[in-house]
Formats: sequence, structure tokens, C-alpha cells
Amino acid sequence: MADFPIPSLHLVSAGAAALQPIRVNHVSVHYRHLLALEDITLAVYPGRVTGLIGPNGAGKSTLLKAILGLVAVSEGTVLRGERPVADQRDRIAYVPQRSQIDWLYPATVWDVVMMGRVKQAGWFRRFSASSRQQALAALERVGMESFRDRPIGELSGGQQQRVFLARSLAQEADIFCFDEPFVGVDQKTEAVLFKIFRELADQGKIVLVVNHDLGESITHFDHLILLNRSIVASGPRQQVLKSDNLTRAYGGQVNFHVA
Ligand code: ADP
Ligand code: MG
Repeated sequence: MADFPIPSLHLVSAGAAALQPIRVNHVSVHYRHLLALEDITLAVYPGRVTGLIGPNGAGKSTLLKAILGLVAVSEGTVLRGERPVADQRDRIAYVPQRSQIDWLYPATVWDVVMMGRVKQAGWFRRFSASSRQQALAALERVGMESFRDRPIGELSGGQQQRVFLARSLAQEADIFCFDEPFVGVDQKTEAVLFKIFRELADQGKIVLVVNHDLGESITHFDHLILLNRSIVASGPRQQVLKSDNLTRAYGGQVNFHVA
């Protein structure tokens, strides 16, 4: 092996580039005078399903947006490899919190999923056969292919969430971020979401999911980041879900037994 150090080093670095974690370094975010995030330092690794948890107003959505470059940080950096994550938007699929989506938007399920292909196709070009195939495969993967001609606004919350998951799959991204995808969804949708998060992680993708609920489904996460304006704990699930951490984050309002 040591005979060809230069080519093998080259191969290692080329392969590793696709698997770089997101590194958040000393990030703070202000909204006017409100300090929403204070000195956040963490890494989000590929190959795992990472949950971002914490009480209402803890800054979970803000942290996701700071990672994606959708809110300005007042201090710190968010990098993957050498470059800001905000400059890698073409590699990111993001499904915002439901309340931030305009449900009256007059689009069909198919239109929404095809939006995931816009970066590959360009807005004003016709979608290629392979783009259409990707979109159909994504709809099939979430069990929504028979709804393709329905207006998105007429679906149930769970069905809508599965369509947005399909759009993110059609994007063929490296980084998948979901903000409270389980709110208002049925059990079937929850099962589909967790199954696909696992598949994406197994494919070596970065999967970061904001989750308000600390119920049984928390066991689907490998790693957790527990947030309350600053990081309370971050690491393997069992380590984070200790009662002293939860008390610090939720102020004694939760009674959760670690699975
Ligand atoms: P979470 O997602 O954990 O519920 P958020 O990130 O939405 O928390 O909010 C964190 C804090 O920042 C809250 O106090 C919230 O009211 C405030 N906040 C969020 N977005 C804005 C905004 N656009 N302008 C001003 N304050 C905001
Ligand atoms: Mg939120």
C-alpha cells in the first residue's frame, strides 16, 4: 500500500470530500435585540439520523436556518469542508416547518415534486425524461404516485409532508434538513418518513431533523442535539436523553424514560 502514496492519498481525499460533516463554529444569531442562539458549536455527521430537539422558542428553526444560510449569523461560521454551507445550496434539500408553507399555492403534487428538479433542469428548460423519472420514483418511494394530479392544498397534512419529502428526494441532495416534519401527520406518514431518513443515512447522506416531540419515536434518532438557546447536550441519543440534560432544557416539564 505504501508503494503508491500519492495516488492513494488523492483517492482518499476525493472520496472523503463527499462525506464531510457540517461544522458549526461559535455561531450566535440575533433578531434585533433578542439573542436567539448563543455560541453554538457542533458537528452534523453523514451516515446518521440526527435530531435537533428542545422546547418551543429554543431556537431549533433558527439553527436550521443559520446552517442553511437563511438567517444571518452575528458571529461564527457554518462550513462543510472548506466552504460555507450557504454556498452549497445545490446540495441541500430543506423542508420548512408547515406554518411557513403557502398551502393555497395552486400547484399539483406533480408540480411540487418537479420543483425538486429545477436546479438540474433550469427554470425555463423542459424537464428531461430522466428528471420526470426521478420525480416519479420519488413519489412512488413515499407512496403518493396515485395523487400526482391532485392540488397540494387538498391533501391531508401527512400526505403533504410525504410530497415534500418526495420533492427533497427528487433533488438528489447530500444534505437533508426537515423542520418538524411529524407535526399533524398520520402514523403511516411517520413510518415512511423514518424509513426514508434511515435509508438516506445508510446512503451516507447528512440527515438533520427538528423534532419537538420526545415520545417513543425519539428512538429512531442516532444522535441528538438538545438546544435551549445554547447547546445543552449533543451526542449519541442515550447520552443526551439523561434527566439532568432534559431538566436543564425543559425546566422539569418533561418526564421521559430513556429507551
Ligand atoms: P423553535 O424553532 O425552537 O421553536 P425559533 O428558532 O423559531 O425556535 O425561535 C427562537 C426565538 O427567536 C424565539 O424567541 C422566537 O420568538 C424568535 N424568533 C424567531 N424568528 C424570529 C424573527 N424572524 N424575528 C424575530 N424573532 C424571531
Ligand atoms: Mg421551530
